[in-house]
Amino acid sequence: MPDSSQDLLLQNGRVLDPSQGLDRQADVLIRSGRIAAIGPNLAAPEAARLDASGCVVAPGFIDLHAHLREPGREHAETIESGGRAAAAGGFTSVLAMPNTQPVNDSASVTHFIVQTAREQSPVNVFPVGAISEKSCGERLASIGAMREAGIVAISDDGRPVMNSDLMRHAMSYASGFGLTVIDHCEDLDLSAGGQMHEGFTAVRHGLGGISAASEEVMVSRDILLAAKTGARFHVAHLSTAGSLDMVRQAKRRGLPVTCEVTPHHFTLTDEDVKDYDANFKMKPPLRSREDRDAMLEGLADGTVDAIATDHAPHAGSEKMQEFDVAPFGIIGFETALGLALDRLVHTGRISLARLVELFSVNPARIVGLDRGTLKVGAVADITVFDPERRWTYDVNQSFSRSRNTPFHGLALRGGPVATIVTGKIVWQVGS
Ligand SMILES: [Zn+2]
Ligand SMILES: [Zn+2]
Repeated sequence: MPDSSQDLLLQNGRVLDPSQGLDRQADVLIRSGRIAAIGPNLAAPEAARLDASGCVVAPGFIDLHAHLREPGREHAETIESGGRAAAAGGFTSVLAMPNTQPVNDSASVTHFIVQTAREQSPVNVFPVGAISEKSCGERLASIGAMREAGIVAISDDGRPVMNSDLMRHAMSYASGFGLTVIDHCEDLDLSAGGQMHEGFTAVRHGLGGISAASEEVMVSRDILLAAKTGARFHVAHLSTAGSLDMVRQAKRRGLPVTCEVTPHHFTLTDEDVKDYDANFKMKPPLRSREDRDAMLEGLADGTVDAIATDHAPHAGSEKMQEFDVAPFGIIGFETALGLALDRLVHTGRISLARLVELFSVNPARIVGLDRGTLKVGAVADITVFDPERRWTYDVNQSFSRSRNTPFHGLALRGGPVATIVTGKIVWQVGS
């Protein structure tokens, strides 16, 4: 949606772009929606100005995993409201998962999403196409036609592919089209009836458990199939130490396997599930302390490639039910960067450069987007953030149409300051 008529000068920020090994105090000049120059004291008398002193100026953040609910469940979120929430979280691009109503399994639904986003969303929306028709796991969706219409990956997130033969075919197709296969790894027989992570806390709450094995069986299957087909395979919302180990080994073998971790899986554990509050109910569930610590380790040692939100809005009437009948999922755009700065950078686990890799450079690479860089000539998608800004998350101020978060009232150190898409400021703190 943003037009890019006026030039923009970002002054005196710390320009941090791991895609070109850049980390220096400088100005960034944007002309006609593209990066025109980076350097000290740039002169551009006609340009609009943004003072970035004390802030990091980074390539725009890309969320590989979000649910925007349109078409079909606009009471929970729309492409416009989700796009605004993403912008307020510092994201310049989001990947929209296909489990809408109808499912994005055809070029016409893909066209609808692309067109609506162009007209209404302040951030770029890249649709993910379904693997199978209606995500029913029986017949492959029209992957080639969706590719033409603009999908950047395929996934049956929300309704994972149980049929291994279908997944093998999907991977063969995908590698032919140069598309990444993103899988929500869950064996539905192993997780049947589960409400939270299988363990002591689930027993104490009298809730059905979702075992680590229900995820790990499918991670293992998909790595095998990726090795056989040559497909690029990306593990969505990886949550267990065992899954992480398998990804680590696959990478050592040189396989094109990558993974993402959500902010909730690197901050919370199953012990945080209290008072049957459904804002702590998601899939995969909050895991054990050992699993959470493994996520922190993987984020630090490079095994984890990306931080993705799995932003999953649900209307109050759906989510404010008994724990066992409430739907899975939480919103996440506006808290992701704050949680990462607070829990990963300020604890000394990762550097700011690594954070920018996890939010921007790597996501672009995983799905082959021409983004995630501030190189001169690149599209000017930029995230400006202040690592020191202290703020408290108030979900009642959220741009999302939904309020399902476990992080309401949380005080954080560090957060987004301005979001720039194709050279235009689409969100600014306090605006
Ligand atoms: Zn999922
Ligand atoms: Zn999801």
